[in-house]
Amino acid sequence: MIRRGVDYLNDITDGRVIWLGDRKIISVVEDKAFYRGATAFASLFEQAAADPALFYSDAGGESTAKHNFAAFKPCKSLDELAAKHKLHAAWSESTFGFIGRSPDYIAAGLSGFIVAPDTFQGKYYDGRYALSSLYERAMEGNLFISFALTNIKRDRAKPLSMGENQASQIGVRATRETESGIFVSGVKGIGTAAVFSDEIIVGSIEPLQDSDMDYALTFCVQPGTSGVELISRDSYSSCRNIDDAPISSMLDENDAILVLKDVFISWDRVLTYKDVQTTFGIWWKTPAYVNMAHQASIRFYKKLEFLAGLAYLVGRSNGSLSISEVRGVLGRLVGYAQLAKSIAYGAEREFDTHSSGADFVFPNRLATYAQRIFAAEVYPKFIHEIRMLCGGSLIYLPATISDFDNPEVGEALRLYWGGESADPVDRARLFKLAWDVTSTEFGARHAHYEQFYQGAPHVYLNQMAEYSHLEALGEIAERALNRSI
Ligand SMILES: Cc1cc2nc3c(=O)[nH]c(=O)nc-3n(C[C@H](O)[C@H](O)[C@H](O)COP(=O)(O)OP(=O)(O)OC[C@H]3O[C@@H](n4cnc5c(N)ncnc54)[C@H](O)[C@@H]3O)c2cc1C
Repeated sequence: MIRRGVDYLNDITDGRVIWLGDRKIISVVEDKAFYRGATAFASLFEQAAADPALFYSDAGGESTAKHNFAAFKPCKSLDELAAKHKLHAAWSESTFGFIGRSPDYIAAGLSGFIVAPDTFQGKYYDGRYALSSLYERAMEGNLFISFALTNIKRDRAKPLSMGENQASQIGVRATRETESGIFVSGVKGIGTAAVFSDEIIVGSIEPLQDSDMDYALTFCVQPGTSGVELISRDSYSSCRNIDDAPISSMLDENDAILVLKDVFISWDRVLTYKDVQTTFGIWWKTPAYVNMAHQASIRFYKKLEFLAGLAYLVGRSNGSLSISEVRGVLGRLVGYAQLAKSIAYGAEREFDTHSSGADFVFPNRLATYAQRIFAAEVYPKFIHEIRMLCGGSLIYLPATISDFDNPEVGEALRLYWGGESADPVDRARLFKLAWDVTSTEFGARHAHYEQFYQGAPHVYLNQMAEYSHLEALGEIAERALNRSI
């Protein structure tokens, strides 16, 4: 059975506890702050249901469903990577790159986990059974999984097990264990789209210290489970009119803090336990992270293509396309978008092979790691260029597009908003779109997202240096020193 949007919406109507300010949300599917986000994710299921090319049907195992999202597939060839690309691109295109955590993000991660199950075998705990049941469960239901892996610390200079971090008991840890599972408590950040997901993977993607053993665990939890609470940031879609906030009103994927209060997790959902190396290693020693980052690189080029198109429309409506400086700016933006696309395709073409020896391939690790640096540094520049092209028009936008219908001010607004050739209302709608994605709270959140969701710079820059064969590059430079005439 293909999972339809309505099935997904029914499934997430499960009594999950979400806080928005002092409001306890009764239904994420109906609440004014969340229903459009839920609808956006439901639309992705509908889009996929209408396009068989976004599925693959040769999933292994008797019990697996016939129709699994292509993102779940552990790939063995460039063609299979290309099939995944198609799904990532289709969903990114329909959301203009503004939904970072479409269900294919973690699905791609799971396809990386499953090729290296032994990575889940720790010194004291074997998570391989939990891994295979997660993979089966996720494929069977085409589940939408989010993750909360960031440790919230009071003192960033110390491990979770020391000082204020330990005293505040803020880190997620097992407080007791039984024959059937563990009870967990603590807080994790940041669950992007967690309020809309079927399950949340809770773990740690950052290296932990040996002393952090109690915090070194990975498990899956359903948001509706007793003791799970999600504290949401402000909603950007609440009550906004689509003409005034065309993207944020429809595509706010939300972010929330995950609070766990003595939550029971059965062993078949515990992936790693009390093991610093395994808890960290499942993300980095398997292709899981690379697969997710690759999905993100495809989403990113789709977002830049949308933004470059927006910049072009702004130039056109300002009558500035023939000005050479403006054309230069557009050229730079299109160039960045093309570079982003080339990284994604290049990572596939130059794929890496997994050391398991089973011929599994995944996007080139170095290219994918480099993409994180490129995206984090280019996105703020991109947004800056669009704001510059828009000029002050962004600021004299009427409060609502319906002001054009106001007999008292409509005529004056039409006069101000008339452009070279565009209809005044259409022109104002275009600038509302530009304001929405570049300059609102939603726009700022996206700039922050592109800079941080893949980790902080001190983490990914060091990681790039670590994996980059710097010695080999040094040898190239040494050859220049040692050349004889
Ligand atoms: C919009 C958004 C969505 C996100 N979604 C998710 C999600 O779905 N799941 C998830 O798990 N996480 C998510 N994150 C969290 C993200 O992974 C973290 O923000 C990121 O890993 C950085 O961690 P931090 O926020 O704790 O930064 P901090 O560790 O607090 O670092 C902040 C800054 O402090 C300085 N700093 C701190 N420590 C050091 C150090 N050791 N050396 C040098 N400088 C240092 C740096 O300037 C750094 O940029 C999201 C973040 C954002 C912004």
